[in-house]
Amino acid sequence: MEKREFQAESKRLLEMMINSIYSKKEVFLRELISNASDAIDKIYYRALSDDSLTFEKDQYYIKVEADKDQRTLTIRDTGIGMTKEELENNLGTIAESGTLNFKNETEIEDGHDIIGQFGVGFYAAFMVADVVTVYTKSLESDKAWKWQSEGTEGYTIEEYTKEGPGTVIVLNIKENTEDETYDEFLEQHRLQDIIKKYSDFIRYPIKMDITEE
Ligand code: ADP
Ligand code: MG
Repeated sequence: MEKREFQAESKRLLEMMINSIYSKKEVFLRELISNASDAIDKIYYRALSDDSLTFEKDQYYIKVEADKDQRTLTIRDTGIGMTKEELENNLGTIAESGTLNFKNETEIEDGHDIIGQFGVGFYAAFMVADVVTVYTKSLESDKAWKWQSEGTEGYTIEEYTKEGPGTVIVLNIKENTEDETYDEFLEQHRLQDIIKKYSDFIRYPIKMDITEE
């Protein structure tokens, strides 16, 4: 297992996330689903120019699963995945592409909610989770990787086995405190509402098994 530290800027952003300066913690799900969708887009666009790759629409989806007993929320995609290098570069540093950038206007629901309009990126996961684990396998590689972080210090990376390309992100949802509750992020109906609110424009199916409660 290898241990690494986050870059200085990433550490600062992480601290803000962990201390939840963003009023709407629920946006973490928008960020993770939009990353999953981007990852599927990458396979889709690759398939347009690569004859050896076909895009079978029903193979590509995003799945959200909540487990109240384990206090985990899992976001799974069948997208392009990440190599070890990509994992280190993309999740160990702040991506120039979009983190803390304004979202597309079409994605903005409430024009007055300035903070909600920012794309805060992957690190938003740390607003609701005390441990984030990423299992990923790139379309380009036979190897799969497990990345894990508790936020502050850094992260660990180790080899893993996983079938097929894609990424699975497991959030260990924080325990409630006197001032903050996190249980809502394990409630199916609450999760459905968040997905409807922010991810209506996603072009791929977002699946969720609904169980009787
Ligand atoms: P942005 O999406 O604006 O680039 P993020 O912080 O949301 O910034 O994500 C950083 C990078 O991590 C992404 O650009 C992408 O390369 C990688 N990444 C995040 N989630 C996934 C995923 N589910 N599948 C593949 N790559 C991912
Ligand atoms: Mg993103």
